[in-house]
Amino acid sequence: MNLAGQVAIVTGASRGIGRAIAIELAQQGAKVLINYQRNEAAARATVDQIASGGGAALAVAADVADEQAVAALVERCLAQWGRLDLLVNNAGITEDAPFLRMKEAQWRAVIDTNLTGVFLCCRAAIAVMREQSYGRIVNIGSLAGLAGNVGQVNYAAAKAGLVGFTRALAREVALDGITANVVAPGYIETELLADLPPNLRSWATAAIALQRFGKPEEVAPAVAFLLSPAASYITGQVLTIDGGWVMP
Ligand code: NDP
Repeated sequence: MNLAGQVAIVTGASRGIGRAIAIELAQQGAKVLINYQRNEAAARATVDQIASGGGAALAVAADVADEQAVAALVERCLAQWGRLDLLVNNAGITEDAPFLRMKEAQWRAVIDTNLTGVFLCCRAAIAVMREQSYGRIVNIGSLAGLAGNVGQVNYAAAKAGLVGFTRALAREVALDGITANVVAPGYIETELLADLPPNLRSWATAAIALQRFGKPEEVAPAVAFLLSPAASYITGQVLTIDGGWVMP
């Protein structure tokens, strides 16, 4: 998984799964742009951790759902390192509600960040990757987008949409030397799960073959593999990382 000399953007890399992915990519030799939305201190802590391990990283704030901010993000990456090889669309939010009580604003917020944000970031990045005739994209989906989840029609729709989006994109950019895949985690211990009710937590744990939730560090190596030259013949695929929860 040698990524030496490559440049990566990881969206939502200030904390959680994105942070673990950024650290893993830096350990494999990539220079990593740490995107975040609001939490500057956490983004700086990620940069510092990478720098203390001898890696190169840069924190840049941008709302992935804002077209101009995304354009500026990619420009900043090019100004710093002159290229862009790897994109991980990881930034994501939840706005859960029972279906009949879900507000339109909750629907739109999740679709905007989790789906439109991926479209905007891919479009800006692929313009660069196509010039280089090389690129690797991993979009972070969710088991909720494959199996559904109570209270998450907005989130499940966005994450399921991501699968169709990635497959269409993979076909469209294949001959430009660009691959695109989805990594779909199950329950991973991050701040996203802070409000998970205890009864749901124990129900989910019982359904998982490994009988526990995962750690961000257990998602990151698979993402690094799909971004590496070793995964050159893998595109348009969905890799679930869920401790053996859903087995088709
Ligand atoms: P966290 O809530 O821990 O972190 C979310 C990250 O996304 C933060 O870095 C946050 O930045 C950033 N972010 C949120 N909105 C935006 C935005 N509009 N623009 C830019 N950055 C944004 O989430 P996780 O690490 O748990 O989740 C990461 C991804 O994994 C998400 O796509 C999520 O849907 C997916 N996932 C998570 C699972 C889990 O169990 N944890 C399971 C399945 C999928 P800031 O710090 O500045 O707020």
